[in-house]
Amino acid sequence: MVPSLGAAGMSQEVRRSEPLADLPLRLNLEPTPVEGCEVCRHAVAWRWAYRTGRGTPDGYTNQSAASECNAEIRNHPHEPRVMALPIKPPAVAS
Ligand SMILES: [Zn+2]
Repeated sequence: MVPSLGAAGMSQEVRRSEPLADLPLRLNLEPTPVEGCEVCRHAVAWRWAYRTGRGTPDGYTNQSAASECNAEIRNHPHEPRVMALPIKPPAVAS
C-alpha cells in the first residue's frame, strides 16, 4: 500500500459531503436555523458533529442524534425579539 503521489490528480478526489440532489422525500428537508439564535447555532454545530463524527464524545457518527438536532431546531420557540422593549429610543434622554 504505497501511495503513488506521482500521479497528480489521482490522489485528489472531489467528495460531495452532502448529496442533496437525491433526497427521496421532502420530509428530509432540513429546518433552517434562525440567524442569531443561540439554540439553533448550538444544534447546527452538534448536527454537523454527529454527521461527521468529529467532536462527538465517542468519535463516531450518530445519524439519529443528528435528526434530534433537526427536531430541536424545528421545535424550540423563537421570539421575534428577545427583549420586550420598545423599538424606538426614549423620547427624552437624560
Ligand atoms: Zn433557534
